[in-house]
Amino acid sequence: MSQVIKKSTPICDWTNLDSDNLYRVSSWGAPYFFINDDGHMAVHIKKKSSVSIDVVSVVEEIQSQGIQLPILLRFKDLLGAQIERINNAFQSAIETTGYGGLYQSVYPIKVNQSQAVVEEILNTGKKYDIGLECGSKAEFLAALPYLENDKTLLVCNGIKDRTMLSLMISIQRIGKNVIPVLDRLNEFSELKSIMWETGHSPILGARICLGSEGLGHWSSCSGEMSKFGLSLSELISLSEEISSLGLKDNFQLLHCHLGSQIKDISTLRQVVRELTQVYVSLIKRNFGIKYLDFGGGLGVQYDEAGTNSQFALNYDLQEYANLIVNTVKDVCNEQGVLEPVLITESGRAITAYHSVLIVPVLGSRSRDEWVTGDALPNDACQASQALFRLMERSTERITTEEALALFHHAKEAHSQVRASFSLGSVSLEEQATMDRAFWTLCKLLYVSLCGESFDSYPPEFIELENILAQQHMCNFSIFRSMLDHWGIGQTFPVMPIDRLNEKPLNHAILADLTCDSDGRVTHYVSSSPNKSVLPTHSFRPGKENHIGLFLLGAYQDSMGDAHNLFGKVGEAHIRLNLDVENHFTIEKVIPETSVQEILGQVQYVSGQLESRMRGLVREKYKSREVSRVAAQEILEKYMSCLQKSTYYDPKACN
Ligand SMILES: *Cc1c(COP(=O)(O)O)cnc(C)c1O
Repeated sequence: MSQVIKKSTPICDWTNLDSDNLYRVSSWGAPYFFINDDGHMAVHIKKKSSVSIDVVSVVEEIQSQGIQLPILLRFKDLLGAQIERINNAFQSAIETTGYGGLYQSVYPIKVNQSQAVVEEILNTGKKYDIGLECGSKAEFLAALPYLENDKTLLVCNGIKDRTMLSLMISIQRIGKNVIPVLDRLNEFSELKSIMWETGHSPILGARICLGSEGLGHWSSCSGEMSKFGLSLSELISLSEEISSLGLKDNFQLLHCHLGSQIKDISTLRQVVRELTQVYVSLIKRNFGIKYLDFGGGLGVQYDEAGTNSQFALNYDLQEYANLIVNTVKDVCNEQGVLEPVLITESGRAITAYHSVLIVPVLGSRSRDEWVTGDALPNDACQASQALFRLMERSTERITTEEALALFHHAKEAHSQVRASFSLGSVSLEEQATMDRAFWTLCKLLYVSLCGESFDSYPPEFIELENILAQQHMCNFSIFRSMLDHWGIGQTFPVMPIDRLNEKPLNHAILADLTCDSDGRVTHYVSSSPNKSVLPTHSFRPGKENHIGLFLLGAYQDSMGDAHNLFGKVGEAHIRLNLDVENHFTIEKVIPETSVQEILGQVQYVSGQLESRMRGLVREKYKSREVSRVAAQEILEKYMSCLQKSTYYDPKACN
């Protein structure tokens, strides 16, 4: 069933710019993602260069190497590009205001711990002295060996046990810039006792929870009752103790973290002022604070700017940098105190852009329609008769008001038929026929409403669109690859990666492979008034139909879970290469998790599965219910499936 998009551009005049506007690519994708003249999604990597990478060519290259989709593309250059943008923004703010200190980026590895990501960030961030932040024991142990340069800062947050603290102090002794940030007072007691034992006095920092609360989903990260950090009273007693031990110079870092994805910039100013006041008070008492660390929170524009979506921001990167630099400078100048080194731990902003998941659409399903030969059954119930008459009416010329009223009546009649069916007084055939009548009526009304122009769309219009939306079955799992969409209703840009110079004439809802009714994309970024359906092209059976899921680089890789035992998808690392025709090379491919591996994670040992399977088949062979050859074949099929991907394999169907 094809639907009509209400859009003024005629089909034949549709260009990539219309698609850009429809999918709001410039809003969430700038300065990297755009639609090229071929109507393909493409990535700009270098500033002021016309060179770009065509996402469709990347996918074709991957497939030509026999690599199966879904595949996660990591455009590794985008990590460096974001680090550069962030550092340039702070540098520019520092120069404009005449700020007296430096800025330093620190990458919090919890946002994406993949080895390749951390390594790339350290390599490309070298010229900005980028540091790392860890929040757990495993993260600490992952980060530590990467501190090749003694200057590289490692900020250690989270709850730290004695083993961790002791290792931190030992590593400080060999000249590494590792700073445990005290989150609880008892961590200081541990530090003291390690100090008595070893005679080494630790360099340390403290995390403060401040009165102001950040807005947005993660607001509970800050505020007086936050899970993290010391209260001001605790800070005072800590500083008194530090002072009495003669360790004033060792107290070098003050930290706070407002929560991720700050939506409203005005909430930040208050926190920056408060933390700077704490800094000033400590400096006036001769503590050695060098670093003022404002944590993460720099947001990413996932949704269309200017909407009230929780995932759209009211500020940009430069505004964020200006606010921090200006505010710290103002407070320091007012109080006549030297400006500190500013740190931000922007994880989301560094990583979000670099990864794109490409998923094949496996098939598409539409509502059944009234077909020639369909007729109202002779003994149809009253509600069915009414619904039938309403369907006939919907083919006539009617006003908008009449169309809306007709829809209300039809919904009522349709649900009455359903009720009779459930009581057994309507036959299966009658129910199916009346479903077709209802959906056909919906389509007729929708098409007629599409011809109208509205100041604001009546809710019935959206309802009709939702009823008629096709269902695209996609080869991925929301729970594995886009967990925050399910978990906290986060918006991610999702759209076709090709045919973008053709007008999309359909609407679809994307469903994943999991047996979970929540395994659907329920919110799309588009200019359409209805955000719960995706404007799409018609599904082409037997051809490639690929959807791109964008801005997945932050949090999704590490948090995705194994619901229904779908494993990690394969990864391809893409690098800009100006020496080759397509401008990219595939640097590395990491295969997806096999069935055997994912089963191992829930304690099914593959050898045991095999011998159990062998046992089952052997019994049937012994009782002569199956031949030796057939039994062997079953075992081979089973064993070969175990080695394969957990996702749908279209090749296996041929
Ligand atoms: C999670 C976290 C970050 C990262 O925040 P983003 O909003 O992703 O930049 C930074 N610092 C700390 C302490 C964190 O816990």
